[in-house]
Amino acid sequence: MIKVGINGFGTIGKRVAYAVSKQDDMKIVGVTNTKPSFEAKFAVDSGYKLFASFPDKKDLFDEAGVPLAGTVNDLVDEADLIVDCTPSKVGAENKEKLYVPNKTKATFQGGEKGHVGEVSFNPLCNYKDALGKDYVRVVSCNTTGLTTTLGALDDAFDIGKIRAMLIRRSADPGISHKGPINAIIPDPIHVPSHHGPDVQTILPHLNIITTAVKVPTTIMHMHSVMVELNQDVTEEQVKEVFRNRPRVMFLNTKDGIRSTAEIMEFARNLGRPWSDIYEITVWEDSISIKDNELYYFQAIHQESDVVPSNVDVIRAMFELETDPMKSIQKTNKSLGIKS
Ligand code: NAD
Repeated sequence: MIKVGINGFGTIGKRVAYAVSKQDDMKIVGVTNTKPSFEAKFAVDSGYKLFASFPDKKDLFDEAGVPLAGTVNDLVDEADLIVDCTPSKVGAENKEKLYVPNKTKATFQGGEKGHVGEVSFNPLCNYKDALGKDYVRVVSCNTTGLTTTLGALDDAFDIGKIRAMLIRRSADPGISHKGPINAIIPDPIHVPSHHGPDVQTILPHLNIITTAVKVPTTIMHMHSVMVELNQDVTEEQVKEVFRNRPRVMFLNTKDGIRSTAEIMEFARNLGRPWSDIYEITVWEDSISIKDNELYYFQAIHQESDVVPSNVDVIRAMFELETDPMKSIQKTNKSLGIKS
C-alpha cells in the first residue's frame, strides 16, 4: 500500500486525494494547506490528516480550532510519494527544498515547467516512460485533452500538420479574484501558445501549432482541432478510433448537448463528486473531413481531466503495474469511467 501525501489541497489536490482514496493499492496519509480555510476544514471533515504548509503559520490553525497533524516536513517524512498540487512554480521550489533532500518521490502538475520531472506524462501515451521514476510531471488539463485524442489519431493514421485553437475558461468556478471579466483575450498574443510545445513533451514527433484565447466562462475549455491526413481516412474510421480510446467520451448536439453548459449539466446527472467529468468530451457530430483535413471540437473539464492520470502515474512510478491498460482500467473502474 503506497503512502501518498497531497501537498496543496486546492482544486486539483482535493480531487486527487479523493481519487487516491478510491484505490486498493495506495492510500492518503495526509494533505496540506497554507491556512485554516474552508478547504482546510473540508479536509479534516473528510477524514484526512491535515499538515500546515508553512511551519511558522501553525498558530493560525490552533487559533481557528482546526486540528493539525504536523507540518509539511512531517508529511514528506511519512509519505512514500507526494503529489504536489501547489500553484505554478511552487512545485519546483518544493522539489529542491523538500522532496530531493528527503529522497521522497513526487509528482507535479501542469503549471510547472516540463523539466521539473524526468518525464511529462499522460498514461494513454507514455505510461512506460514513468516506470520506476522518482519525479514526474502530469501535464496540464489542456495538454491532457490534446494528447489524449491526438495520440489516438497518431497511433491509427499517418497524420501531418495539426492546428488547434484553444478557447480557455478565465478562472475556475471557485475563484473570484480573477474576475469578473467581460472580454475575449488573445492569450498569448503570439503564436504558438505554450500548449503545442507542451504536447511535444509527450509526443515530440507531432507537428502542432496552437493558439489560445481566454473567454468569460468558468466551466470548461474548448478546443477546435484541425489535423492534416496523409492517407485516405473516413469520418467513421476516426469515430471508431475515438470510441476505442479510453477516457474519450462522445457527446452529440442531437441529444441537446449544444455547449459546455449542457455538458456540465450532463456531468451533474452522473452524480460524481464535484460533478467532475474526467473524460475528454468530443462532439461526435463535429467530426468532419474536408480535403484530407480532419476537424473536430472537444471540451475539457479543466478541474478534473488530469485526476485519473495522477493515479496512474503513482502506479507506474512504483511499478505496481507495468501494463498501461491494466492501470488505466483499474483507475477507470474505481472512478466510474467506462473503459
Ligand atoms: P489552487 O489554488 O486551487 O490550490 C493550490 C493549493 O496549494 C491550495 O491548497 C493552497 O493552500 C496551496 N498553496 C498555495 N500557495 C502555496 C505555497 N506557497 N506553498 C504551499 N502550498 C501553497 O490551485 P490548483 O488550481 O489546484 O492548481 C494546482 C496545480 O495544478 C497548478 O500547477 C496548476 O497549473 C495545475 N492545474 C490546474 C488546473 C485547474 O484548472 N485548476 C488544471 C490542471 C492543472
